[in-house]
Amino acid sequence: MTESGPLENMLAQMEQAREYVDIDDGIFERLKSPERTLSVSLPVRMDDGSVEVFDAYRCQFDSARGPYKGGIRYHPNVSEEEVSALAGWMTWKTALVDLPFGGAKGGIVCNTKELSDNEVEQLTRRYTEGIRRMIGPETDIPAPDMNTDERTMAWVMDTYSVYQGYAVPEVVTGKPPEIGGTDGRVEATGRGVAITTEETFEYFDTDVENADVAIQGFGNVGSVTADLLTERGANVVAVSDVSGAIYDPDGLDIEDVQAYVESNDGRLEGYDAEAISNDDLLTLDVDALIPAAIEDVITVDVAERLEADVVVEAANGPTTFDAAQILQERDVPVVPDILANAGGVIVSYLEWVQNSQQYSWDVEEVNRDLRQRLTSAFDEMLGAYEARDIPTLRTAAYTIALERSADAHEYRGLFP
Ligand code: NAD
Repeated sequence: MTESGPLENMLAQMEQAREYVDIDDGIFERLKSPERTLSVSLPVRMDDGSVEVFDAYRCQFDSARGPYKGGIRYHPNVSEEEVSALAGWMTWKTALVDLPFGGAKGGIVCNTKELSDNEVEQLTRRYTEGIRRMIGPETDIPAPDMNTDERTMAWVMDTYSVYQGYAVPEVVTGKPPEIGGTDGRVEATGRGVAITTEETFEYFDTDVENADVAIQGFGNVGSVTADLLTERGANVVAVSDVSGAIYDPDGLDIEDVQAYVESNDGRLEGYDAEAISNDDLLTLDVDALIPAAIEDVITVDVAERLEADVVVEAANGPTTFDAAQILQERDVPVVPDILANAGGVIVSYLEWVQNSQQYSWDVEEVNRDLRQRLTSAFDEMLGAYEARDIPTLRTAAYTIALERSADAHEYRGLFP
């Protein structure tokens, strides 16, 4: 059986929430498709003198509530369909946590492991040139995503600024603090996942101290989540990356794992612990499973065998639509991605606000604001879940996001 891809998944999630909200049919129809997607071909001179052409996209899904906001992903699987789904999820995420943003996403079809630093820089600058007419501090503000980081955002900011003739730090978020980035942004998504996991444990009466957690993906989001949950007393019993998974029933020494990965070209492979497969990790009997890698990893097959008490979605779209139905039937709660990983966009918002005011806050203030916004969105989701008798946390989150987005369209009306 072929399971739905990310775009079908997102549209089906919207349809499920529809029966619980009162939205005009025309507006709902409008919310189902992106406003625009730009597709660009990027010729890049490679280190050996040859020219290679890369396909890339920027999708702007909706801007009724404010400028488009969303990351840029470098991955061989990037496609127009994938960026559209991710841009839609950004729209629902910014609405759910009530930021004055819409949603967007961009991506380049490439494998960064096969490119030199210089080639990644050339590709990034050419991509920025390709999309520069559609981005800007008041229109569309990119940020990092898979395989892009502070360094990448610095190149985007520099290329855009060169065309403008002056520095425009607020055109991207997730920059290095030296050029206008905010302290706390690098850790923000993982910190948000850790806060959401703690809140979830509290709601389901599970003590975070000694709770067993398994995390798929040990990149920016997964490793920070592992670190902060360990700090709170949880046992991170398994983590994984593309090279495989490691397991210790007594809890892994996350600092040691991080040090190993740094010294091993970013890979977990070879770490001194029991090696298991990514599939084994997803089906471990733990208090919380946190997928923090890519989309569509919790398939029907995995959902039928999953033994975690709760799933906290750190990655975007890690559960297929069909798998989510099975988890619902099996009474396994799933804390949806649009809430669980919203810490990144919340702190991106705080970075953009600081840039706009030309003022900077200390990391304590940033983290306090992040916690406050995320926990109040969590409470709102629970409020809708209980008061409206909605079957899943995801559908409850969608009702809030769709209502806010539809209200914005309703008030603004149609032009012309
Ligand atoms: P990253 O590139 O830093 O890390 C990704 C990790 O996933 C790596 O450890 C990689 O080896 C692993 N991985 C990739 N494919 C895998 C597979 N098939 N099986 C197991 N592991 C695999 O990326 P990130 O920034 O940590 O993003 C992870 C997820 O979180 C993505 O879905 C992204 O969209 C989402 N997200 C990220 C942010 C952010 O601020 N970085 C914000 C919101 C959501």
